[in-house]
Amino acid sequence: MKKEILCMMPSELEELLLGFGEKAYKAKQIFAWLHRGAGFDEMSDISKKTRALLEESTTLVYPSIVQKQVSGLDGTVKYLFSMYDGQLIESVVMRYKHGNSICISSQAGCRMGCKFCASTLGGKARDLSAGEMLSQIIVAQKDIGERIDNVVMMGIGEPLDNYDNVIRFLDLVGAKGGLNIGYRHISLSTCGLVDKIYRLAEESYPITLSISLHATSDSERSEIMPINKKWGIDELLSACRAYFDKTGRRISFEYTLIHGKNDSPAHAKHLAGLLLRYFDKSPFHVNIIPVNNVTESGFTAGDESSIKRFIDVLERSGVNATRRRKLGSDIDASCGQLRHNNTKNG
Ligand code: SAH
Repeated sequence: MKKEILCMMPSELEELLLGFGEKAYKAKQIFAWLHRGAGFDEMSDISKKTRALLEESTTLVYPSIVQKQVSGLDGTVKYLFSMYDGQLIESVVMRYKHGNSICISSQAGCRMGCKFCASTLGGKARDLSAGEMLSQIIVAQKDIGERIDNVVMMGIGEPLDNYDNVIRFLDLVGAKGGLNIGYRHISLSTCGLVDKIYRLAEESYPITLSISLHATSDSERSEIMPINKKWGIDELLSACRAYFDKTGRRISFEYTLIHGKNDSPAHAKHLAGLLLRYFDKSPFHVNIIPVNNVTESGFTAGDESSIKRFIDVLERSGVNATRRRKLGSDIDASCGQLRHNNTKNG
């Protein structure tokens, strides 16, 4: 089987080139070309012979843009990408004052089964390779013609369910001469694969870990997030505490407000009590996200006053909470819906 060249670290490219009788330093040039989105034929400082050998022994396919939506409100760009085998995934570029952020997918589909989420409706088709995660950034950056500064792994898929490829992706993003995005500018979001949270803590990449919590009791969480039947809230929050103790990185908790399910003031109080029990005076953060309507789920967000009240109760209890700014609301920028609609029809 040919190797995907976008999955290769500079040292591995070097080894390949030495095998061709080429000079090792050429690996750096090729790595830089690849991470700018170039094809072999564009690599003008690499000999024709070496390019032909690379083409023979590796594969290079960038995702193609099937659909692109640009928000008229805030410039958010949403891509529907087709991978080499026709699998569809999504990425979203968000424009902030402090720079451009991209939300990338880690799997084609998802097998976690969260009840409110569009990405899991058709199950998981396959994992994405490290190169396929990276190339979402490469292609989007080339397309917008601006640098991408931040990466959030919050698109389609459960990153910790594709652990080895995610780790290689992190190595590639951090490698010198490539995209040059620091680990402090990378967040990884998980629904709570506890064994992998402990493993990730040991790897000590200074990335931000985000936890999709969404409920304050095991019975309520298990109802909307099947993973909770495997690892309950206590096991999850203990793993988060261990992650913080090991890495010193502040954890971010995602809490999606679903009207009539988890959005009462009593839930807010319970949430504050729960998190303070594990973190006490150590820093952590809560992101409040009014649920996006996914037709199949039947869940809706409450009105403005109930959202505000929820955040007020958290803050009065001493918990730092911010409401996730909703970007691209005119283009349905939350992930999973384009893939779902296009896969369903196609
Ligand atoms: N599998 C990972 C990352 C992908 S989901 C995880 O579970 O964290 C990214 C975030 O979007 C998660 O917090 C997820 O719970 C949330 N999300 C999914 N569907 C949503 C919806 N319909 N409305 C609001 N947030 C949603």
